Amino acid sequence: MKRIFLLGLDCATPQLVFDQYYDRLPNLSKLISHGICGNLETTVPPVTVPAWMSMMTGLDPGQLGFFGFTDRADYSYDNNYIVTHKSLSRDALWDHVGKKGYKSIVFNVPLTYPPRAIDGIMVSSFLTPDKELVYATPSNIQEELDEIADGDYIIDVSNFRTTDKEKLLEEIYEMTRRRFKILTNYVKKKEWNMFLSVEMGIDRLHHGFWRYAHSDEDARYQNVLIDYYMFIDTLIGELVEAFPEDTQLMITSDHGAKTLQGTFCINDWLISKGYLVVEDSNHKGRLNPNKVNWKKTRVWGSGGYYCKLYFNVKDREPEGILEYSEINEITNEIIHELSGLCDLDGNPITNDYFLPKDSYEEVNGIPPDMMVYIGQLDWRVTGNIGNDHLFLFEDTAIDNANHDKNGIVIFNSNPKVSLAQEDCLSKENLQINQYQMIDVAPTILKYFDIPKPDTMKGQNINIE
Ligand SMILES: [Zn+2]
Repeated sequence: MKRIFLLGLDCATPQLVFDQYYDRLPNLSKLISHGICGNLETTVPPVTVPAWMSMMTGLDPGQLGFFGFTDRADYSYDNNYIVTHKSLSRDALWDHVGKKGYKSIVFNVPLTYPPRAIDGIMVSSFLTPDKELVYATPSNIQEELDEIADGDYIIDVSNFRTTDKEKLLEEIYEMTRRRFKILTNYVKKKEWNMFLSVEMGIDRLHHGFWRYAHSDEDARYQNVLIDYYMFIDTLIGELVEAFPEDTQLMITSDHGAKTLQGTFCINDWLISKGYLVVEDSNHKGRLNPNKVNWKKTRVWGSGGYYCKLYFNVKDREPEGILEYSEINEITNEIIHELSGLCDLDGNPITNDYFLPKDSYEEVNGIPPDMMVYIGQLDWRVTGNIGNDHLFLFEDTAIDNANHDKNGIVIFNSNPKVSLAQEDCLSKENLQINQYQMIDVAPTILKYFDIPKPDTMKGQNINIE
């Protein structure tokens, strides 16, 4: 019987799994040694939405038509919408394999709220607005989750950007422990051919504790990351033990993590360069479109893990002034100007620049006109204005990791046998390949002998 289990570990980072922590992860190191592994290059942008859905569909964000947790709904200045499962109009893995009669369990995969009825089970992710809502199909599943979890099933921690680190840590462990109880139960008790599940714990942990694991700042939290990776490693061992015979295992992440230096104020910078003109000099905080002089504004921005830039284009934006023919020129000008950026110590900051037309196979929806990774993701970005400096540091106490460009992929065709082995490669001898997010879906389809649709541009990962 064909069975493949994909364990998603949101934000699991290659530098930790394949190098720094490798020797202390007995199960993962065996699965890697007796399987294949690689860096999994994330999407542009490197964010949970759209990254997981790109993995699950084999399509890039341009093909999917969404680019983050929220997107522009139209070309007006302040009309964003929250991207949900309803925004997904393309087939995902469970649709493809379902058509061939294979059963799926889709568990906690980001952007599956609201859940859809599939041939199998779908439990939505941390983007479920409220646990009182229907977040799983079929409908009897929700009650069962609470029962098996032995305590309420926890969809996500209550707030991962909190100063109460003790509470956060406790919640992360409890969430993960309960979720793995269900996974271990379901692999044995349910009918399935493809099991796709995502655990959010590592992502929450990285954002909350990354700096403590990478400095002497607070001894209490210095081992928090390695301890949790070891905890996950143990749970993976128990899960594999519960697998039916012949189950193949894939472990992936949607992006990695790196140290966050601070926050760059993009709109203050655009104002200082004359690209963005604000009427009211006392205007501070979130950029209010009603206070922008759009007749003099060519570019504005917004923030997050990376920088989004929007051009104020004639006949596109309500008060656009840039001609279409000027877009290339302004793009090059902005790249040139931002390439001269230096941090507070005068060190040059190297950025990555992405244009939708170059980054995507096709462009649906409304992406930013340009995406910039400030300091190659060393810096987050805020769109707030009126700050005292272009670089801010206060936010790093509550969130101190940024996303990094590579996640992980591990494939093991016989995990039960691998875990029974004694031998293990040393980390120096690992062959770490390079793959892309869109390679995962065609690889799983090939496992089910389903031909790759023309729209999927990824390569099969050679798992033979
Ligand atoms: Zn993520």
